[in-house]
Amino acid sequence: MSSNSSFRVAVAALVAAAAGNLAAGAVAECWSQSAATKAAVDRWPVHSMERPRPPVVTPGPAPATPVPPPSDAIVLFDGRDVSKWRSSKGGPVQWKVENGYMEVVRGTGSIETIQGFGDVQLHIEWATPTPPRGEGQNRGNSGVFLMGRYEVQVLDSYQNDTYPDGQAGALYGQYPPLVNASRAPGEWQTYDIIFRAPRFDAQGNLVRPARVTVFHNGVLVQDNVELVGPTAHRARPPYQAHPDRLPLVLQDHGDPVRFRNIWVRELKSPEEQ
Ligand code: MG
Repeated sequence: MSSNSSFRVAVAALVAAAAGNLAAGAVAECWSQSAATKAAVDRWPVHSMERPRPPVVTPGPAPATPVPPPSDAIVLFDGRDVSKWRSSKGGPVQWKVENGYMEVVRGTGSIETIQGFGDVQLHIEWATPTPPRGEGQNRGNSGVFLMGRYEVQVLDSYQNDTYPDGQAGALYGQYPPLVNASRAPGEWQTYDIIFRAPRFDAQGNLVRPARVTVFHNGVLVQDNVELVGPTAHRARPPYQAHPDRLPLVLQDHGDPVRFRNIWVRELKSPEEQ
C-alpha cells in the first residue's frame, strides 16, 4: 500500500466517522495499523537473503489418502474432473491429469477457476517433484494465487534455501512463513488458507486490505496478516481496485508440481452475518 492509499484509507475512515459509523479512537487505530503494517513489512527489503530463516518444524505424517471435504464445500478438483478450471491463456486446462492428481505441464500456462471467489476457506494439497531438481526458486515452484493476485508460494522448501519471503508458506515478497513446516519432495502437503479479500469503495479506494491465515501441513505459518498489496516479483506495488470475486489461479512456474483435493468454502464477512 502506498502512503497515498494509506492516506485514502484514513480519509475514508474519517468520512465514516463523520457519518457516525466509527468512534474517533477507531479512526486513529485504522490509520496506525495500516502505517505500522507497511513499516513492518518494509523493515526487510523484498526478497532479502539477509533476514533470518524460519525455524524448521517437522509436521505430522501426511494422510495416506485425501481427507474428504466438509458438506458445504465447493469441490474444485477431486483428482479427476477439471471442468471447474480453464487455462489462464484461454481454452481448456492443458495440465496432466492422472492417478488422482493434476500436474503442471511446463509452458502450458497457469490455470484458473471458472468461478470467481472473494472471502474463502481454501484447502489444497500439493507435491513437489522427486527426485528434486534445481535450487532455490527453481525447485518445485508453483503458487496459489487468491483472486489471481495474492500468492501463497508453493515451493520445495525441504532443505532448499531461498529468500524467506519466497519459500513455501510465504505470502510472496511480503511475509515469510512463521516456521518451515515442509515435507520432503514427492510427499503430499496441505495448505489450509483463510482469505479475506480487500475491500474498495465505489471510487476504487482501498477501504480494507486483504488478510490471510495459512496452515501448512496443519502448522500455522501465517497468522491473519495484512497484505500491503498484490504479489509481485522484486516489488511491493500498492493495491489496485478489482472486482469482489475473481478466479483462483494455480501457477505454471515451469516445474511439474502436482495438486489434488482442492475445495473452498465461501465465507461471509463478519458484517454480513
Ligand atoms: Mg510461485
